[in-house]
Amino acid sequence: MRPVNLPAGLEDNDMEIYIHHGELRVIYDSQIISFDHLPERIRDIFSQHMIANKAALKSLKTDLGLTDANAMLMQYIKCNFGNFDGQPDMNEDGLTISECWDCGQRGTCPGEGKVCSRITGPNGMLTKRETEIFFLLIEGKFDKEIAAHFEVTLPTIETQLKCIREKLGCNNRIEVMNFAIHRKLILI
Ligand SMILES: [Zn+2]
Repeated sequence: MRPVNLPAGLEDNDMEIYIHHGELRVIYDSQIISFDHLPERIRDIFSQHMIANKAALKSLKTDLGLTDANAMLMQYIKCNFGNFDGQPDMNEDGLTISECWDCGQRGTCPGEGKVCSRITGPNGMLTKRETEIFFLLIEGKFDKEIAAHFEVTLPTIETQLKCIREKLGCNNRIEVMNFAIHRKLILI
């Protein structure tokens, strides 16, 4: 077990990946190194993971226009593991994908829902617009403010909020907050 507040990879066998000025960095074996300097067998685990994900592979090619295998791998990792969230990206059980995180292009990443994971509840996956609304909601914005943000009417937003709650299996705002907290989509 890692002492509280220490990132994964510093004093354990886990690993934490993050993005520093657009480049992938890794905390592994008590060092901070670039992804290229990870042992081949570790980089291979990520490659296998990507290759097994056919939807992501297709999206990397068609939506993101990548053809070079290394560039595809870098983007795949940024979209799925680039968040410095206190959760190891790899531990003894293998790679761990967080439920949803902002690859830095939330709402505009061409691979969203295919390369990037999207917020998914028991009854469905949020659309891009619903994801944006979800984050405004958990920031504490009122329905009126969210409607103004998107320049739509209040009933329109209320309908969309209802749809979000249904997908996430939540009955009200508090349950949506709980959903966000449990998935570490919000830091409190
Ligand atoms: Zn992405």
